[in-house]
Amino acid sequence: MYLAEEAFTKQGVRDKTKIIYGNATGAMFGVPAYNLPLEKVVERKNIEVKYAHNLIEIKADSKEAVFAIGEGETITIKYDMIHVSPPMTTYDFIKTSPLANGQGWVDVDKYTCQHTKYSNVFGLGDSSNLPTSKTAAAVRKEAPVVIENILALMNKKILSTNIMATPVVL
Ligand SMILES: Cc1cc2nc3c(=O)[nH]c(=O)nc-3n(C[C@H](O)[C@H](O)[C@H](O)COP(=O)(O)OP(=O)(O)OC[C@H]3O[C@@H](n4cnc5c(N)ncnc54)[C@H](O)[C@@H]3O)c2cc1C
Repeated sequence: MYLAEEAFTKQGVRDKTKIIYGNATGAMFGVPAYNLPLEKVVERKNIEVKYAHNLIEIKADSKEAVFAIGEGETITIKYDMIHVSPPMTTYDFIKTSPLANGQGWVDVDKYTCQHTKYSNVFGLGDSSNLPTSKTAAAVRKEAPVVIENILALMNKKILSTNIMATPVVL
């Protein structure tokens, strides 16, 4: 969205375009420290934000996007170009494996990243059920914990719970 906005500006067509950011949640980002600056960015770039707009259908022929905006209520917005992020999910081979919890995520302890059933398995990143955003920023904080704890397990030491000592909930 920001790249498109910049490209439109550089091409001299920004004043002829309307950029709308539709978001199924109620904020730009789940963490207040990041949310506020992002709100300022969209304001500065004159991007219209529509919260609680859950994309449920794309009518490609008529170039229309249908959003659920409440109980049984929808709104249709016409577009010339649309960029969509699909809902987060994980791989089928994980969902159907014994590593997964009921929702299909690799079921790990949120403090140690150790699997809740299989002590020699650790999980992190997008496929894990860690209570973080599905971002590389979160992975960056999780990876050192996983490494430290694999080494601790191999050396029969107590596992570190450092994960909560760092701002992992990004
Ligand atoms: C468009 C986009 C923009 C993003 N922007 C940001 C951003 O600005 N900042 C940020 O922090 N995060 C961003 N993210 C999120 C970030 O990319 C992910 O959170 C991160 O890559 C997750 O890392 P991961 O190692 O858990 O999973 P992945 O990076 O998805 O790695 C999983 C790997 O497993 C491989 N694989 C799949 N199936 C198999 C199999 N059967 N056997 C072996 N290997 C397999 C895949 O090929 C892949 O290499 C963005 C994501 C997208 C899609």
